[in-house]
Amino acid sequence: MNFNIAIDGPAGAGKSTVAKIVAETLNMTYIDTGAMYRAITLLSIRHDKSDIDDIIELVKKAQIKIKDGKIFIDHEDVSEAIRSIEVTNKVSTIAKIPEIRHVMIRLQRDMAKNKGVVMDGRDIGTTVLPDAEYKFFLTADIKERAIRRYREMIKKGQRVTLEQVEKDIMNRDLQDEKRDVSPLKAAEDAVIIDTTNKNIQQVVEEILDWIKRGENVVL
Ligand code: C5P
Repeated sequence: MNFNIAIDGPAGAGKSTVAKIVAETLNMTYIDTGAMYRAITLLSIRHDKSDIDDIIELVKKAQIKIKDGKIFIDHEDVSEAIRSIEVTNKVSTIAKIPEIRHVMIRLQRDMAKNKGVVMDGRDIGTTVLPDAEYKFFLTADIKERAIRRYREMIKKGQRVTLEQVEKDIMNRDLQDEKRDVSPLKAAEDAVIIDTTNKNIQQVVEEILDWIKRGENVVL
Protein backbone atom coordinates (compact mmCIF):
# COMPACT_ATOMS: atom_id res chain seq x y z
CA MET A 1 0.00 0.00 0.00
CA ASN A 2 1.24 3.42 -0.84
CA PHE A 3 0.17 5.07 2.39
CA ASN A 4 0.83 5.04 6.12
CA ILE A 5 -1.64 4.72 8.98
CA ALA A 6 -1.01 6.31 12.39
CA ILE A 7 -2.92 4.99 15.39
CA ASP A 8 -2.47 6.83 18.70
CA GLY A 9 -4.19 6.90 22.05
CA PRO A 10 -3.79 6.26 25.78
CA ALA A 11 -2.96 2.89 27.37
CA GLY A 12 -5.58 0.19 27.02
CA ALA A 13 -7.63 1.87 24.29
CA GLY A 14 -7.15 -1.16 22.02
CA LYS A 15 -4.55 0.35 19.69
CA SER A 16 -2.20 -2.57 19.27
CA THR A 17 -4.88 -5.24 18.79
CA VAL A 18 -6.70 -3.10 16.26
CA ALA A 19 -3.51 -1.95 14.49
CA LYS A 20 -2.33 -5.55 14.09
CA ILE A 21 -5.60 -6.66 12.45
CA VAL A 22 -5.74 -3.59 10.20
CA ALA A 23 -2.16 -4.25 9.08
CA GLU A 24 -2.89 -7.92 8.38
CA THR A 25 -6.05 -7.12 6.47
CA LEU A 26 -4.32 -4.56 4.29
CA ASN A 27 -1.10 -6.54 4.00
CA MET A 28 0.87 -3.73 5.61
CA THR A 29 3.66 -3.78 8.21
CA TYR A 30 2.65 -3.27 11.83
CA ILE A 31 5.04 -1.27 14.00
CA ASP A 32 4.49 -1.09 17.76
CA THR A 33 6.47 1.98 18.86
CA GLY A 34 5.59 1.38 22.51
CA ALA A 35 7.64 -1.82 22.27
CA MET A 36 10.68 0.28 21.36
CA TYR A 37 10.36 2.46 24.47
CA ARG A 38 9.78 -0.68 26.50
CA ALA A 39 12.95 -2.28 25.09
CA ILE A 40 15.02 0.71 26.20
CA THR A 41 13.40 0.56 29.61
CA LEU A 42 14.26 -3.13 29.88
CA LEU A 43 17.83 -2.33 28.92
CA SER A 44 18.09 0.31 31.64
CA ILE A 45 16.65 -2.07 34.26
CA ARG A 46 18.98 -4.89 33.27
CA HIS A 47 22.01 -2.63 33.44
CA ASP A 48 20.67 -0.94 36.55
CA LYS A 49 20.99 2.53 35.03
CA SER A 50 18.77 5.51 35.86
CA ASP A 51 21.08 8.32 34.90
CA ILE A 52 20.02 9.88 31.59
CA ASP A 53 23.52 9.94 30.08
CA ASP A 54 24.08 6.29 30.98
CA ILE A 55 20.78 5.28 29.39
CA ILE A 56 21.56 7.24 26.23
CA GLU A 57 24.91 5.50 26.07
CA LEU A 58 23.18 2.10 26.36
CA VAL A 59 20.73 3.00 23.61
CA LYS A 60 23.52 4.10 21.30
CA LYS A 61 25.37 0.82 21.78
CA ALA A 62 22.37 -1.51 21.55
CA GLN A 63 20.67 -2.57 18.38
CA ILE A 64 16.91 -2.42 18.76
CA LYS A 65 15.01 -4.06 15.93
CA ILE A 66 11.42 -4.94 15.12
CA LYS A 67 10.86 -7.92 12.85
CA ASP A 68 7.75 -10.00 12.13
CA GLY A 69 5.93 -8.51 15.10
CA LYS A 70 8.75 -9.31 17.52
CA ILE A 71 11.24 -6.98 19.16
CA PHE A 72 14.93 -7.71 19.53
CA ILE A 73 17.77 -6.18 21.51
CA ASP A 74 21.04 -7.26 19.94
CA HIS A 75 19.36 -10.31 18.36
CA GLU A 76 17.73 -11.42 21.63
CA ASP A 77 13.94 -11.71 21.35
CA VAL A 78 12.61 -9.60 24.23
CA SER A 79 8.96 -9.50 23.12
CA GLU A 80 7.79 -11.16 26.34
CA ALA A 81 10.27 -9.53 28.73
CA ILE A 82 9.20 -6.00 27.78
CA ARG A 83 5.64 -6.68 29.03
CA SER A 84 6.65 -7.16 32.68
CA ILE A 85 5.06 -4.97 35.35
CA GLU A 86 8.47 -3.55 36.20
CA VAL A 87 9.00 -2.32 32.64
CA THR A 88 5.42 -1.04 32.37
CA ASN A 89 5.78 1.05 35.50
CA LYS A 90 9.07 2.62 34.42
CA VAL A 91 8.55 3.11 30.69
CA SER A 92 6.90 6.56 30.79
CA THR A 93 9.78 7.96 32.83
CA ILE A 94 12.23 6.75 30.19
CA ALA A 95 10.01 7.84 27.28
CA LYS A 96 10.09 11.42 28.63
CA ILE A 97 13.79 11.84 27.94
CA PRO A 98 14.08 14.10 24.86
CA GLU A 99 17.35 12.56 23.60
CA ILE A 100 15.79 9.08 23.69
CA ARG A 101 12.72 10.32 21.82
CA HIS A 102 14.85 11.91 19.13
CA VAL A 103 16.65 8.64 18.46
CA MET A 104 13.38 6.66 18.43
CA ILE A 105 11.56 9.14 16.22
CA ARG A 106 14.38 8.97 13.68
CA LEU A 107 14.25 5.16 13.65
CA GLN A 108 10.46 5.15 13.34
CA ARG A 109 10.45 7.61 10.44
CA ASP A 110 13.02 5.50 8.70
CA MET A 111 10.80 2.40 9.04
CA ALA A 112 7.90 4.28 7.48
CA LYS A 113 9.72 6.04 4.68
CA ASN A 114 8.71 3.56 1.97
CA LYS A 115 5.06 3.68 3.10
CA GLY A 116 2.91 0.66 3.87
CA VAL A 117 3.11 0.78 7.67
CA VAL A 118 0.50 0.82 10.41
CA MET A 119 2.27 2.45 13.34
CA ASP A 120 0.79 2.69 16.81
CA GLY A 121 1.94 4.87 19.69
CA ARG A 122 1.31 8.20 21.38
CA ASP A 123 2.86 10.75 19.02
CA ILE A 124 2.71 9.14 15.60
CA GLY A 125 0.08 11.44 14.08
CA THR A 126 1.48 14.58 15.69
CA THR A 127 5.26 14.10 15.50
CA VAL A 128 6.61 10.90 13.98
CA LEU A 129 4.47 10.85 10.84
CA PRO A 130 2.60 14.18 10.65
CA ASP A 131 2.08 13.48 6.93
CA ALA A 132 0.55 10.02 7.44
CA GLU A 133 -2.34 9.60 5.02
CA TYR A 134 -4.62 8.23 7.75
CA LYS A 135 -4.64 9.13 11.42
CA PHE A 136 -6.77 7.64 14.15
CA PHE A 137 -6.91 8.40 17.86
CA LEU A 138 -8.46 5.68 19.98
CA THR A 139 -9.86 6.50 23.40
CA ALA A 140 -12.03 4.76 26.01
CA ASP A 141 -13.22 5.41 29.54
CA ILE A 142 -10.54 4.83 32.16
CA LYS A 143 -12.63 2.12 33.87
CA GLU A 144 -13.02 0.21 30.62
CA ARG A 145 -9.34 0.52 29.75
CA ALA A 146 -8.35 -0.70 33.20
CA ILE A 147 -10.63 -3.74 32.93
CA ARG A 148 -9.21 -4.64 29.52
CA ARG A 149 -5.63 -4.39 30.76
CA TYR A 150 -6.46 -6.24 33.96
CA ARG A 151 -7.95 -9.18 32.04
CA GLU A 152 -4.90 -9.33 29.75
CA MET A 153 -2.56 -9.39 32.73
CA ILE A 154 -4.51 -12.01 34.66
CA LYS A 155 -4.54 -14.20 31.54
CA LYS A 156 -0.77 -13.98 31.46
CA GLY A 157 -0.61 -15.09 35.09
CA GLN A 158 0.42 -11.70 36.50
CA ARG A 159 -0.80 -11.02 40.03
CA VAL A 160 -2.50 -7.62 40.05
CA THR A 161 -5.65 -5.95 41.31
CA LEU A 162 -8.01 -3.93 39.15
CA GLU A 163 -7.45 -0.86 41.38
CA GLN A 164 -3.70 -1.10 40.94
CA VAL A 165 -3.99 -1.47 37.16
CA GLU A 166 -6.29 1.57 36.98
CA LYS A 167 -3.89 3.62 39.08
CA ASP A 168 -0.89 2.59 36.97
CA ILE A 169 -2.66 3.42 33.71
CA MET A 170 -3.72 6.85 35.01
CA ASN A 171 -0.22 7.57 36.17
CA ARG A 172 1.28 6.50 32.82
CA ASP A 173 -1.24 8.56 30.81
CA LEU A 174 -0.58 11.60 32.94
CA GLN A 175 3.18 11.37 32.41
CA ASP A 176 2.66 10.78 28.67
CA GLU A 177 0.31 13.76 28.37
CA LYS A 178 2.41 16.17 30.42
CA ARG A 179 5.85 15.58 28.95
CA ASP A 180 7.51 18.40 26.99
CA VAL A 181 8.55 16.48 23.89
CA SER A 182 5.82 14.91 21.73
CA PRO A 183 3.20 14.35 24.43
CA LEU A 184 0.24 12.01 24.05
CA LYS A 185 -2.24 14.04 22.03
CA ALA A 186 -4.64 13.61 19.13
CA ALA A 187 -3.45 15.21 15.91
CA GLU A 188 -5.81 17.93 14.72
CA ASP A 189 -6.61 15.93 11.62
CA ALA A 190 -7.04 12.57 13.39
CA VAL A 191 -10.31 10.65 13.40
CA ILE A 192 -11.23 10.14 17.05
CA ILE A 193 -12.80 6.79 17.89
CA ASP A 194 -14.23 6.14 21.35
CA THR A 195 -13.92 2.37 21.80
CA THR A 196 -15.64 2.16 25.21
CA ASN A 197 -18.72 0.39 23.90
CA LYS A 198 -17.25 -1.15 20.77
CA ASN A 199 -15.63 -4.50 20.23
CA ILE A 200 -12.39 -4.96 18.33
CA GLN A 201 -14.10 -5.94 15.09
CA GLN A 202 -16.27 -2.81 15.13
CA VAL A 203 -13.26 -0.54 15.58
CA VAL A 204 -11.34 -2.36 12.85
CA GLU A 205 -14.28 -1.98 10.48
CA GLU A 206 -14.62 1.71 11.26
CA ILE A 207 -10.96 2.24 10.38
CA LEU A 208 -11.18 0.11 7.23
CA ASP A 209 -14.27 2.07 6.14
CA TRP A 210 -12.34 5.33 6.34
CA ILE A 211 -9.57 3.85 4.26
CA LYS A 212 -11.94 2.37 1.69
CA ARG A 213 -13.51 5.78 1.27
CA GLY A 214 -10.15 7.54 1.07
CA GLU A 215 -8.68 5.11 -1.40
CA ASN A 216 -11.90 4.70 -3.32
CA VAL A 217 -11.53 0.92 -3.27
CA VAL A 218 -13.43 -2.14 -2.10
CA LEU A 219 -11.33 -3.94 0.49
O1 C5P B 1 1.90 1.23 23.80
P1 C5P B 1 2.50 0.88 25.15
O2 C5P B 1 1.51 0.95 26.25
O3 C5P B 1 3.24 -0.41 25.10
O4 C5P B 1 3.58 2.02 25.39
C1 C5P B 1 4.38 2.04 26.54
C2 C5P B 1 4.83 3.45 26.85
O5 C5P B 1 5.76 3.88 25.87
C3 C5P B 1 3.78 4.53 26.89
O6 C5P B 1 3.11 4.61 28.12
C4 C5P B 1 4.59 5.78 26.62
O7 C5P B 1 5.23 6.24 27.79
C5 C5P B 1 5.68 5.28 25.69
N1 C5P B 1 5.40 5.59 24.28
C6 C5P B 1 5.68 6.85 23.83
N2 C5P B 1 5.54 7.16 22.52
C7 C5P B 1 5.10 6.24 21.65
C8 C5P B 1 4.76 4.95 22.10
C9 C5P B 1 4.90 4.66 23.44
O8 C5P B 1 6.09 7.71 24.62
N3 C5P B 1 5.01 6.56 20.35
